[in-house]
Amino acid sequence: MSGLLEILQSGAEGLLRLVYPPACALCGGRLEPPRKLGLCPECWRGAPLIRLPYCTACGQPLNADEVPGGLCLDCRLQAPPVVLRAAALYREPLVSLLHLCKFDFWAPAAEQLAELLVERAHALFPDWRPDALVPVPLHPRRLRWRGFNQSELLARALAEHWDLPVTPALRRVRDTVPQARLPREARLTNLRGAFAPRRPAGLRGARLLLIDDVTTSGGTVYECARTLSAAGTAEVRAYLVARS
Ligand SMILES: [Zn+2]
Ligand SMILES: [Zn+2]
Repeated sequence: MSGLLEILQSGAEGLLRLVYPPACALCGGRLEPPRKLGLCPECWRGAPLIRLPYCTACGQPLNADEVPGGLCLDCRLQAPPVVLRAAALYREPLVSLLHLCKFDFWAPAAEQLAELLVERAHALFPDWRPDALVPVPLHPRRLRWRGFNQSELLARALAEHWDLPVTPALRRVRDTVPQARLPREARLTNLRGAFAPRRPAGLRGARLLLIDDVTTSGGTVYECARTLSAAGTAEVRAYLVARS
């Protein structure tokens, strides 16, 4: 029986290698074993990490004319509802890696993204430790289509590193058009009422870190943060792989 399983497994692996040979998602170069999906070391070294000075509220790099340790122009005009940090900018090679992870149904591609989150966590959250990590949820319909929630994979990797629990504190009650496809004004109304707390009573007084893969305007994590805060959390922050 185990022999048959092995044959089936190696057959499936062989087929996968045929469809997706272990090549870098950006340059097509050789991946460093044992990595089977993702970016080669050379492309990975080019990841545009976000380093100081960045905005203390939304985490985007500050322009040369903005004061280090302060807020960016966007946040000075309107303060975001949550302190947000992103590990890198949403540019290559992360665009290719995130695309591979999200649209090619490849959960293993999220491993390299998770490594980046773990690697940058100490620098971006030096004195702060949440009680639990909360992945941004997918609508059940989208979850069935994709087969996994990439934010949950990322949250689990970070949770293991920090020895913290992952709490699915939110559920998506309304399926929405992907934010990236909408103009800026439509993004706010698109998400209104999209999330609800799962067990509101358990959230009172909690310090939570929201985890997501990428944002263009912060809209999704901002709406998640508002929903959690309304349930009585003590503090919510957000941590993403990439922001534009
Ligand atoms: Zn490469
Ligand atoms: Zn800002």
